[in-house]
Amino acid sequence: MLELEIDAALEQFKSILVGQLERVDQLKNENVRIDFMQVPCIRIGVCGGDGIGPIISSVAQRILSEALKEYVSSGKVEIVDVEGLTIENRVAEMKAIPDKVLANLKDCHVILKGPTTTPQKGDAWPNIESANVAMRKELDLFANVRPVKKIGDRIDWIFFRENTEGEYIVGSQGFDVTSDLSVDFKITTEQGSERIIRMAFEYARLNNKQRVTVVTKSNVVKTTDGRFSSVAKRIAQEYVQYGITSDEWYIDIMTAKLLDPERRHQFEVLVMPNLYGDIITDEAAQIQGGVGTAGSANLGNKWAMFEAVHGSAPRMILEGRGQYADPASMIKAAAMLARHIGFPEAAERIEKALEICVSGERRLVITGRPDGATASEFGEYILEWMNRCSLDQDYDRYLLQ
Ligand code: NAD
Repeated sequence: MLELEIDAALEQFKSILVGQLERVDQLKNENVRIDFMQVPCIRIGVCGGDGIGPIISSVAQRILSEALKEYVSSGKVEIVDVEGLTIENRVAEMKAIPDKVLANLKDCHVILKGPTTTPQKGDAWPNIESANVAMRKELDLFANVRPVKKIGDRIDWIFFRENTEGEYIVGSQGFDVTSDLSVDFKITTEQGSERIIRMAFEYARLNNKQRVTVVTKSNVVKTTDGRFSSVAKRIAQEYVQYGITSDEWYIDIMTAKLLDPERRHQFEVLVMPNLYGDIITDEAAQIQGGVGTAGSANLGNKWAMFEAVHGSAPRMILEGRGQYADPASMIKAAAMLARHIGFPEAAERIEKALEICVSGERRLVITGRPDGATASEFGEYILEWMNRCSLDQDYDRYLLQ
């Protein structure tokens, strides 16, 4: 009776399978990560983005330039502006990322990106794909990495969210089979799971972490999450020799445990498929103090992009409060970038200064309104502390005063 509908659905399903199997073939051949020690000049591209993006990005760029000053002088690092990733330009070309901008981004090794506006139904802008989603696909940024810290509560988590598979990869290819039946697809591959899980375990090994927690719903979503879970168990075996233990939690109880003051400080490194990571990292950022306080890294084997967790805050611009936006999230992203390209001391200098300004001395405070500091004033404040911290390592004294 519904043969025509079923046949049409099978055709669509077939084209999804063909596309994904081609992707698996590519994944099998692309596993060499860039070694920044071997790169003669590391090119960092900075995109301002939309709304408050250019304001907070320029502050973060100034701080990053200061932290990497000696490497910029020696020619090991170059920091360039990548112009044109704006909503106006994207709409003019009706592309998530205009071709010239994409070529310029691909000319860089790493990118510091301000938030970009994504048009929604009912907006003044026509419907174009999110620049972020496009960038993740174009640059194959498979890992979304978010650290979350709250010293007073002994929280020091780092989340590794798979960024390219799960419910999102063919999110626009779901369909209505009949007027009553809709289907979407969730994709999990052996290679896609392995690369994110291995990255989480490697991070644990290199940073003296003892525990990697895998978050799934493999008791119910048995095939796709089941694969993620079994790949994690296989990889965990390799890391027993480094004293790293691994456990698996289901996403529902995990969201609760992150709120449990008795248990939450015991988690260290957490790794999970895309959708669960999307949800749980926002919860974690809120625990830390809000999405404005979090930075995130989008890592691939070849390129990496670092950004704030929040969006372009168009309302702040409309209300004339853009200059009071909090740059902390972008500054954290800049520190993650410095660490990723092999300059952990520069990253630490940024992070320490930021922590003193936000949680220690607090001579200037960001409120998002004229009763607080501007992003640029706050940037100067951090720079002042960066220069003091580099001379005086006794930073806990300043943090606790
Ligand atoms: P938003 O994150 O831009 O703003 C949410 C709220 O947080 C606003 O009330 C804003 O005042 C506040 N806020 C956010 N960042 C702040 C900061 N640095 N300082 C002070 N206050 C801050 O979320 P939204 O309004 O849902 O999204 C706006 C646009 O950003 C949308 O087009 C969305 O698609 C886009 N977006 C982009 C990214 C990205 O580029 N990574 C991420 C999320 C949303």
